[in-house]
Amino acid sequence: MENFTTSTFEKIKSIINYFSIATEEKNSLLEILKYPDISFEFSIYLKKENQIKSIKAYRVLHNSLNGPYKGGLRISQDITYQELLELSTLMTLKNALLDIPFGGSKGGISIGSKSLTLEEKELIIREYVRKLSKYIDEYTDIPAPDMNTDEYDMNVFFDEYSKIKGKPVYAIVTGKSPELKGIEYRKFSTGYGVAYITDKVIKDFLNKDNVKIAIQGFGKVGKYTFKKIQELGYKVVAISDSKCGIYSKEGLDFNQINEIKKEYGSVCELAELNKSVDKLNPSEFLYIDCDVLILAAKEDVINKDNADKIKAKIIIEGANKPITTEADDILNKNGKLIIPDILSNSGGVFVSYYEWLKGLGLVDLTDEEIDKIMKEKLIQAYNKVKNISQSKSLPFRESALILSLENLYKKAKLRKVI
Ligand code: GLU
Repeated sequence: MENFTTSTFEKIKSIINYFSIATEEKNSLLEILKYPDISFEFSIYLKKENQIKSIKAYRVLHNSLNGPYKGGLRISQDITYQELLELSTLMTLKNALLDIPFGGSKGGISIGSKSLTLEEKELIIREYVRKLSKYIDEYTDIPAPDMNTDEYDMNVFFDEYSKIKGKPVYAIVTGKSPELKGIEYRKFSTGYGVAYITDKVIKDFLNKDNVKIAIQGFGKVGKYTFKKIQELGYKVVAISDSKCGIYSKEGLDFNQINEIKKEYGSVCELAELNKSVDKLNPSEFLYIDCDVLILAAKEDVINKDNADKIKAKIIIEGANKPITTEADDILNKNGKLIIPDILSNSGGVFVSYYEWLKGLGLVDLTDEEIDKIMKEKLIQAYNKVKNISQSKSLPFRESALILSLENLYKKAKLRKVI
């Protein structure tokens, strides 16, 4: 396993001079955040058609200055250690930004989830837990859903871990079913958080009525962003899934699209049924005429080849790292306002914190209470980031990183690490 630098780390390096701390302290903070504290890389053996297939699996524990390691577990064909290092670094920064008392981690299993039956997926997750269970507990590293993993996968994680330990360990993983000390609201939290932030950004920066919103992705994040943003009174003119996109000048209806997706497996079917809805191919989708583009699909969707074609004035990152570093520079040059992932999608891990506390038997709040606290916390962080952005004339991404680093620096000082 090699240690490469990540684009997130390079970004941190580029803003470190905004801190008025001693050079040695700056360098020390960078040194601490450069490499992960601990990385696990292992193989999972799956028998498929009478033949063993070995699958690469990882868990990267990036940093625990702020608390136990915390981050999702994803299943994806081409996942690499390098990518997980990047994503675990983002988790450290995300948790520090909202001052959630967690560090950052991320795990991955490198196989296309669509190629697996439900039984195979379960076997793989159980084996992942068995391999990792010697090294983690509920105070060390707490996984959660991420790309291509859901509530049922987290239930399996909890079950396997509990079997190994001989007792239910509810706080070992978040994103579980409410019956297993999960939180119903956890499912909606990331998307609702994206919608609350989008609402605030529109009120602050778009001086107009009839705002047109496009959402890329109708998975765990995109779906609930759509639901909440519609409830808040906004018009979503375009939505996409992995197959294609659809567009309607008059606006799309969440309930109708949700039904279509359930029945036909893709949102595109609406274009066949309703003549006033146009079908778009995935590559066109990002360039449609809209005011706000919400990226809730996957990483690197805006890159140096397509960044110049984006028309939306405001871009909200619902997914983790949907914009490459080169594209970020181009978009900034073109005057776009980008709300970074560590701010806009942090509602999910924020609610995970409450699920963790519930699992430990410490706090048990209602969904309404959590919704209120999450919204307040997100808006508070947003306002702090906006102030940094305005006072230092920096984009939101750099400003969010400054706030996260300030927090990590404080913890490092108090713990006498620096
Ligand atoms: N996978 C989510 C994220 O990237 C949530 C992680 C968690 O709840 O621990 O933020």
